Amino acid sequence: MSTAKKFEAGDEINSRCLKCKDVTNHVIVAMVEEKVAKVICNVCKGRHNYRPEKPEKTAGAKKKAPRGAASAEAKAAKTEARYVKLLAERDPAKAVAYAMTGIFKRDELLDHPVFGLGLITKTIRPDKIEVEFRMGCKLLICGPVER
Ligand SMILES: [Zn+2]
Repeated sequence: MSTAKKFEAGDEINSRCLKCKDVTNHVIVAMVEEKVAKVICNVCKGRHNYRPEKPEKTAGAKKKAPRGAASAEAKAAKTEARYVKLLAERDPAKAVAYAMTGIFKRDELLDHPVFGLGLITKTIRPDKIEVEFRMGCKLLICGPVER
């Protein structure tokens, strides 16, 4: 692109002015190589760094939240969505209360005093069940299981 106009000190240029909170006419007072560095506002006579009329897209500046936080959030949302889907057509009234010696079947709704309602997604011999709760999957001890 050869359209870039060459400026030099003393030229007038439009720049954003923080004092005027507007784009105003400025006079260039300092150049750094081919770039306008310092300008003086013709309105408030303030001297400041040149600011282009439209904010430049700052390369590399990302608005995104840190990757770790975002993915943890996404994971939690996914877990909850799966949970809601799993329990959508189940009747909470039919949930069986959890007990360490209880005997449970896969696909049964479980009512846990701490984790709340969950769905038994797997029975693991000899005495464990995998339960999908709102906060995620938990392995619970129970009475002997059958497959
Ligand atoms: Zn100004």
